[in-house]
Amino acid sequence: MVSDCIFCKIAAGEIESTRVYEDDRCIAFEDLNPQAPTHLLVIPREHISSMDEAEEGHKELLGHLLFTAAEIAREKGFAGRGYRTVINTNSAGGQTVFHLHVHLLGGRQFVFPPG
Ligand code: AMP
Ligand code: ZN
Repeated sequence: MVSDCIFCKIAAGEIESTRVYEDDRCIAFEDLNPQAPTHLLVIPREHISSMDEAEEGHKELLGHLLFTAAEIAREKGFAGRGYRTVINTNSAGGQTVFHLHVHLLGGRQFVFPPG
């Protein structure tokens, strides 16, 4: 737990969020400023600042975050139509909250490349 990290506080239940899934390693909750009809964030309970801080020992956890996003997309019924997962890393990558998170966006058409 990093005391000045907003997502650590969400994971600890100290800041409110609308949780849609949780297990021993991660939680998923609604993004405050949704960019699609479904916009969730899947975060590890462990504080990892960004993909730039990912280590060998995080490999399984990183896979778990992506797999969890895929399971949620299936469960919510938009997986077959399609969806987008995004991980922004550091400043040029558009990262604004420095606790690693996977955006899961669904319910509309996406284009590539993103902005
Ligand atoms: P990123 O720019 O990839 O770091 O994404 C950070 C995301 O966190 C943005 O989409 C924000 O809307 C979202 N966000 C920031 N604060 C909160 C919060 N308290 N609850 C839910 N989502 C948040
Ligand atoms: Zn954190």
